[in-house]
Amino acid sequence: MAPSRAAEPYPPNLHPSEAEQLVATIKDWSIAHGLAVRPPPAVISAEADPQGILATTVPVTLFPSPFPRICFEQAKSIQKAYNKLYASIAQDEGFLEEIVQQIIEVDDFIAELWQVHLKVKEEGYVQNLSLGLFRSDYMVHQSTAEEIPTIKQVEFNTIASSFGGLSSQTSKLHKYLAVSDYPLFKKSLQTTELDLPENQSTKSLALGLRSAYDAYTKSENIHPCCIIFVVQDPERNIFDQRHLEYELQQHKSPISVFRLPFAETLTRTSIAETSKRQLLYHLPSNPSKVFEVAVVYFRAGYGPGDYPDASAWNARLQIERSNAIKCPTILTQLAGAKKVQQVLATPTSSSNLSILTRFIEAEDPSIHGLEDTFTNIFPLDDTPAGQEARKLAIDPEKCKGYVLKPQREGGGNNIYRTAIPPFLKSLPETHWKSFILMEIIIPPPVKNIILRNGALEQGGVICELGVYGTCLWDQATKKILHNEEAGYLLRTKGDKSEEGGVAAGFGSMDSCRLV
Ligand code: ADP
Ligand code: MG
Repeated sequence: MAPSRAAEPYPPNLHPSEAEQLVATIKDWSIAHGLAVRPPPAVISAEADPQGILATTVPVTLFPSPFPRICFEQAKSIQKAYNKLYASIAQDEGFLEEIVQQIIEVDDFIAELWQVHLKVKEEGYVQNLSLGLFRSDYMVHQSTAEEIPTIKQVEFNTIASSFGGLSSQTSKLHKYLAVSDYPLFKKSLQTTELDLPENQSTKSLALGLRSAYDAYTKSENIHPCCIIFVVQDPERNIFDQRHLEYELQQHKSPISVFRLPFAETLTRTSIAETSKRQLLYHLPSNPSKVFEVAVVYFRAGYGPGDYPDASAWNARLQIERSNAIKCPTILTQLAGAKKVQQVLATPTSSSNLSILTRFIEAEDPSIHGLEDTFTNIFPLDDTPAGQEARKLAIDPEKCKGYVLKPQREGGGNNIYRTAIPPFLKSLPETHWKSFILMEIIIPPPVKNIILRNGALEQGGVICELGVYGTCLWDQATKKILHNEEAGYLLRTKGDKSEEGGVAAGFGSMDSCRLV
């Protein structure tokens, strides 16, 4: 019998000179194709680059990580159902209000977001269309080697779902290496042998933005229209955003896109004095030139750090009350709260009916597909389930299987395992209910080599799959005008690290080799 391929190590054992060659190829390809970030201060100090002209390669794996095909397909196949679910949640103000009320007194950020929504509601929303560029994140779960692997959801992102621009580039990089370099090390690693799926995340996300732009520009406009990317300043992950922008402009009907640092919203935009409340963008280089904003795409504004003072909240209000289509609206942002994910995943004790039937017709088979991706998540409130979870969270042994999450986005906010009991004890018990307690998902072991800041890190890794989705809907009629699965992201981190964010400095970009 011929030796089975599975017996060959993957990634292959590289001779130091082979690794050197691969790194040289990746370094150049990455910069040549914008698989790049602005350098972190630890790599290049601000004094060394006073003009901000430098870019560096994104942390990336040398090889695409093996990922179960069945899980990849499972994740892609339910994305449209997830889009629809979160569009329905965003339409269910009563449901969101109930959730917000539970945390409002201990979470100022959520309270402020809710206030913005209430102010616009009182005045009356002028724009019913709402855009979501979502990303549902998963890890593979497999209890025993014999069991069929499935995916379990880590979280669902409804605001600033990042890395779509870099992710399609990473897939292209690994496909390129499978032609250029891998076959030099091993014949079994050439393109025809590796199953590397297509990844159109840049194109698909841009199409989502375009669908909203097209819907907006169908009605009469008072100025030429544009899309605004609301961004942080400075932004290290700028090329990820630029890829989307270039995609919108390189199209046969290009769209004007402007980057607006969130802190400059009130100086660079205004609201037209009409009943429609169009959002106007004044070009900083020529303020007499005015554009009407069709779509506001938030890549900022998801955390308290972006709101240092009252004027930042006024800026958010200005956008929310305008006629521009928001990606996302406040309600859609709140739908992405970890507390919502917990409420969906915690079975209601009173009936056997899934809470999902509040948002999806009970006969819809997608309900089971969605539920299959849920893992155990508990509240930390005064309910019986919450009381049980509190015991788990402060138990020095049992806490080892859990992660504690506040209602925050962007990485670096979670508390893991044995850090949970002392953390909770440092807080008044009345604040515990603003957290959720989630079982830690332990994916089967995978090995890879990560290239980060020029150095190689080799060993066990943990992979997290994200599937993008785009959805445009009408809040008033509940009609869905666009609903698409929009490509994928694979992020990989060393198995000693808890957090996985690439921008936050923990993870690396990767792509799937389906197995
Ligand atoms: P954030 O909104 O800050 O991105 P996440 O819920 O995505 O928060 O958690 C951040 C990271 O922590 C994830 O990317 C993942 O690496 C890790 N993580 C979160 N929840 C779990 C879990 N249940 N099991 C294993 N790892 C997790
Ligand atoms: Mg996350």
